[in-house]
Amino acid sequence: MSTIEATRHLHIGGEPVAPSSDETIEVLDPATGRPIATVPAAGAEDVERAVAAAARAFEEWRWSTPAERADVLLRLADALGAAVPELGELESRNTGKPLAAARGEIAGVVDNLRFFAGAARCLHGPVVGEYKRDFTTMIRREPIGVVGLITPWNYPLNMAIWKLGPALACGNTCVLKPSELTPLTTLRLAEIAADIIPPGVLNVITGTGEVAGAAIVEHPLVRLISLTGDTATGRAVARAAAQRLKRVHLELGGKAPVVVLDDADPQAVAQCLRGASFWNAGQDCTAATRVIAGAKVYDELLGELATAAASLKVGAPGVDDVEMGPLISRGQQERVLGFIERAGGEVVTGGGSRDTGFFVEPTVVANVGQQDEIVQREIFGPVVTVQRADSAEEAIRMANDVPYGLSASIWSRDVGRALDAVRRLEFGTVWVNDHITFVSEMPHGGFKESGYGKDLSMYALEDFSNVKNVMARLGA
Ligand code: NAD
Repeated sequence: MSTIEATRHLHIGGEPVAPSSDETIEVLDPATGRPIATVPAAGAEDVERAVAAAARAFEEWRWSTPAERADVLLRLADALGAAVPELGELESRNTGKPLAAARGEIAGVVDNLRFFAGAARCLHGPVVGEYKRDFTTMIRREPIGVVGLITPWNYPLNMAIWKLGPALACGNTCVLKPSELTPLTTLRLAEIAADIIPPGVLNVITGTGEVAGAAIVEHPLVRLISLTGDTATGRAVARAAAQRLKRVHLELGGKAPVVVLDDADPQAVAQCLRGASFWNAGQDCTAATRVIAGAKVYDELLGELATAAASLKVGAPGVDDVEMGPLISRGQQERVLGFIERAGGEVVTGGGSRDTGFFVEPTVVANVGQQDEIVQREIFGPVVTVQRADSAEEAIRMANDVPYGLSASIWSRDVGRALDAVRRLEFGTVWVNDHITFVSEMPHGGFKESGYGKDLSMYALEDFSNVKNVMARLGA
């Protein structure tokens, strides 16, 4: 495959703009480890220009009607829908994920945008009331202003759209910074959007978290930071944002348990986890990464899961029928292999890597302890642990006993037992007899150290807008 043409510009005020310095970032193909593009490493000066453009654009965009904003979002959805093959290929090249999966993700974001187009027009609920004699009152839902959107590398365009959709629907203007590892589809989004979104409403800056990201977080005119990333990054961003008490929306790490009660069907669980544990090579904050199985189903489930994992076809995204690609970087590969090497338990399948590209085999590890790091910490790779629990109560206790609270699943044929477990699991999403299904209408966001705020759904609109109470005295 040829090298993707170098992308030399930032996108500020609706047009490509030369960066203020010559510093660049090399973007690699994770399947080969070789460079495929070079993008600018923006600095504080570039962030200043982007925020100024967003602030200027806000003075117009804030007064746009919901119908006008919906129209922009629908046209963007159509344009991205028409570009699914191209964007999918670019995403696949930059992240290493299979082409079909990458294209599926882009098709998904088209639906997300259509949802937020509709949501823009439903933003105001029934909000007029009279609660005091001689007064009438109303709620206004207003845009926040310039918002900073900072995204990770695992679903680059997808995460950008999850933020951009509600941000624009609410009338905000944006400075968007993709991960330095995966900036290509976000830069292409900026090019596509230039004909659709008014100038300055969306500005895209490429650069590192420490420099460009931090400059966005610290800028006084940026009123909200929405970050999807590591929990440690979330802490750093929340700390910096606290200096100006600016609002923070954090979608952070996860360590999703799969609680399998004794009456569940082990084959159905293993079949689902073949996708849900290893999708995107396990680099998914909701990945089914900790199986906790009742004693009666433990042996069969472990066997079925190991067989399912070993059957996955691993390879470079261009290869036919490939189901799982490499990890994103050498650093991520080494990190994941380190977790496997240090695990005290039994590696039932997988554990290997390749000399070329950042691959790690689908891996299942058994006989691990609840306090082992492989159980407690987010691995963000194709590694699943399997633990045995003697009762449903113990399984739920083990499921909750991690710092994270993003998502979980409960498996049982007994609806009453499953719904009782739902009440007890401390996670922002709980799937019943499934794992990892998303829809635009339902929220995604964590409890505990997985962050706060919601992506998708009407809840995202609450995070991206301000509520103003108006109390008006009646009479002259
Ligand atoms: P990361 O935290 O390293 O980087 C995320 C983004 O933050 C990047 O754009 C990075 O440049 C930027 N950044 C880093 N330091 C910063 C700073 N000090 N100030 C401002 N910006 C900074 O995360 P990653 O490695 O790209 O992504 C993997 C992580 O993302 C995992 O922990 C995963 O669980 C999490 N994630 C969470 C969700 C969710 O919805 N909860 C979804 C996807 C990924």
